[in-house]
Amino acid sequence: MPDAPSTPTPWRPATTAIHGRRGDNPYASVAEPLLTTATYYFRDSAELRMFRADPAALRPAPGVERQEYGRYGNPTVQAAEARLAALEGAEDALLTASGMAAVTLTLLGLLRAGDHVILTDDVYRRTRHLAQQLLPRWGITATVVPLNDFAALERAITPRTRVLFSETPTNPFLRVLELRRWVELARAYGLTTVLDATFATPLNLRALQWGVDLVVHSATKYLGGHHDLLAGVIAGSRAHIQPLREFLGTFGSVVAPQVAHQLLRGLKTLPLRVRHQNAAAQRIAQFLQQHPAVERVWYPGLATHPDHAVAQQILRGFGGVVTFTLHGDLDTALTFVDALRIPLMAPSLGGAETLVSPVALMSFDAYTPEERAALGIRDTLIRLAVGLEDPDDLLADLAQALERITPTRTWALTEPARAAVLSSSTSL
Ligand SMILES: *Cc1c(COP(=O)(O)O)cnc(C)c1O
Repeated sequence: MPDAPSTPTPWRPATTAIHGRRGDNPYASVAEPLLTTATYYFRDSAELRMFRADPAALRPAPGVERQEYGRYGNPTVQAAEARLAALEGAEDALLTASGMAAVTLTLLGLLRAGDHVILTDDVYRRTRHLAQQLLPRWGITATVVPLNDFAALERAITPRTRVLFSETPTNPFLRVLELRRWVELARAYGLTTVLDATFATPLNLRALQWGVDLVVHSATKYLGGHHDLLAGVIAGSRAHIQPLREFLGTFGSVVAPQVAHQLLRGLKTLPLRVRHQNAAAQRIAQFLQQHPAVERVWYPGLATHPDHAVAQQILRGFGGVVTFTLHGDLDTALTFVDALRIPLMAPSLGGAETLVSPVALMSFDAYTPEERAALGIRDTLIRLAVGLEDPDDLLADLAQALERITPTRTWALTEPARAAVLSSSTSL
């Protein structure tokens, strides 16, 4: 976006999500126009010559770039990229066909044969697959170190290390990276940092302000927000994004204009949605934590979470995902999820519908029990991705499903639990 200011917009996120780097358009339409075309014509050879000499001389409207071919640019896609860059406080942003396309493009764009990348554990399963199974095919090696173990991280650095990759909060345990130390270490060794902040969204974490070089998101989750599209985004300085944009022209994993348009629409409610989901998840985590059928809860907003202190420092909200284990076995977990009436049993997160995932059967089914154990994935591990329903209805639903798996019916709801179930939605 040549017209994009390189400084953050002066607005708060709710305004930026709607107006951030809004471009002009030839129709003066309030909703950003959806332009679906594979290619663009030149009216005569003189126009083609002008375009070759200086594309900026051929602007269809102020702030709108003249395009040549769909894989290299589309005004709807660029409008969504500009809005996302504004939300991240980034100079530039690049949309891709999926979150994995963003991760793949970033790593392949930054690394070449002989290079080495260090990931933290608990990163997205397919990211780990890319790094450990696929990158070696192209002569790139990867090391995985425990998140926030900075001694191990420093030991893993070799003269060929180029990139540090991490995720925050992580899936499924919602671990939170000590960003300041991570960035400082990267800078000391001249390494590029890439953070997958899908679970945080640009609302809960301003990763670039902490000095991260590139932030990636699966826009499929909160950014789109309605479980109806697949997209990914990479944001950072123009110097980092421009070469990746060039790569994308060849890799070809571009987003469709229709999807970019849906994404623009979703972004306008992102701050509202995230605020709701932060508050609802906090209440649900507190309710689960004191429930006798629940063994353990992971939520960065709980004092019992291993990274609660770090989360308080770097996150502006603790997110919409709550992970917990139940007392019992796999059957208990499945009885529980089957008893839930509101949450749909599906992978993913960040949309209007609350989704529940029996993690061992859902995302880690291809792993052996031993591999799952090594990753801490217990049979009774449940991930709840809180949606936009009334949290009181969700709490009541969770309570009735938990009651089904409580071995004897002699226990009663403790007072805090009763209060959590009964308190009105005004506490949101
Ligand atoms: C879903 C997800 C991805 C992959 O995104 P897709 O849009 O499904 O390709 C990457 N990272 C995280 C943290 C995710 O949750």
